[in-house]
This record gives sequence, structure tokens and C-alpha cells, in this order.
Amino acid sequence: MTEARWQPGDEVVLRYITRQERPGMSWPARVVEDRDDLLALFIPNGAVTKQWRGVRDSMGQPVTRELVDIPWRRDTLRLMYPGEDYSIWLSWRDEDGERVFHGYYINVEEPFRRTPIGVDTNDHTLDVVVQPDLSWVWKDEDQLAERAANGVYVPDFAKRVRATAERALEILERRDHPFDGSLAEWMPDAGWAIPRLIEGWNELPATLWPDRRSAYGDAPPA
Ligand SMILES: [Mg+2]
Repeated sequence: MTEARWQPGDEVVLRYITRQERPGMSWPARVVEDRDDLLALFIPNGAVTKQWRGVRDSMGQPVTRELVDIPWRRDTLRLMYPGEDYSIWLSWRDEDGERVFHGYYINVEEPFRRTPIGVDTNDHTLDVVVQPDLSWVWKDEDQLAERAANGVYVPDFAKRVRATAERALEILERRDHPFDGSLAEWMPDAGWAIPRLIEGWNELPATLWPDRRSAYGDAPPA
């Protein structure tokens, strides 16, 4: 069965689905390429995203959180691989009007699901920050261990997340795409306006990761 594909330039919404099975943090994006082995999305500098902000009571204690509009600060090309539980991002920063390649980022996440308006996934805490020269560091290792210890993740899941990141790092070690540098000068289509979140982005029911019960514990993430 062939699923419907997007065309280059189509506007879509990337949603992180919460433990409560609701849309959470979300990004408007443009489709760069949609193939059997790759879905590439572009989130430009200045795109208005939805991010969590903690809400505190009058004593300064956190009581809840809400989604607020936050502009994205870097041009980001998000390479997502069907069925794969990580994505690789490339980003560019603006330096006094000059576009400078900022580096790569390996994001461990749920394999994406297609929706009528885009894709659903969710973040798995551990990341790898990769410089343009391919030197790299772990990000949020401590938080991953803490979440496994606190029951946010089932104990074995932290190992699985780590193994996923190590698998992605093998691509880097081999200098395979995109770590071959071939996308460092990539530019979006000059005619693309900044995408906006599609109306109703938070009303469309979430699609759920089939493996979530073997990964997530009962504790809600802090
Ligand atoms: Mg992450």
C-alpha cells in the first residue's frame, strides 16, 4: 500500500504527542522532500511554534503548564526516516545577515506517524549535539537517567534510547549522509513564505506510538 505523499513546499504541522495522548509542542514546517526512505521538513527562523511554559501560583509554585507561541530561532532542516526512532537536524544561524551552518543534532524520538495535516512523534529526552566539524557531545543524559529512575520511562527504555542514539552515531562515524557535509550549504526555496500552524492543529486527534506501553512508565514527566 502506498501512502499519500506531500509535495515540496506543502505546509504541514509536526506535533509532539503527550502522555495524555494530546497534541503538545508543535511546529509549522514546509515539506522539502517526501520519499520512501526520508521525510525532510524545513522549519525556518521566525516560524511561530507552540512550546510549554510552566504556570506558577502566587507563591511561585509550579501548578500546571500551558502551550505558548514561541518564535523558532534557527533555520532547521529536520530529516526523518520512516519507521526510525531518531531524526537528524541541520541548522543555520543568522550572523549579521549572513547564514552560517550551525551544526547537526540527533534527536531520539518516536517513529513518526502521518496525519492529515502533517506528522506526529514525541521526544525521548536524549540528544546528541554535533558541531560542523563532527565533534559531538551528549545532551540530557542525566535527565534520561532521572526519568528512568523516576518511572517516567520503564527501566529498560533508557537503554533502548541510548542504543538508538549510538546507532545514529554510527552514521556519523562512517561520514555517511547527512554527515558527509553535502547539505551544509543547503538553502530553502526562495519563494517559501514562513509556514504557520494549520488551523485546528490541536483539535485533530493524536496518533499514538504502538510501542508506548513498553516504553513509558506511569509517572508523568516533570
Ligand atoms: Mg530531544
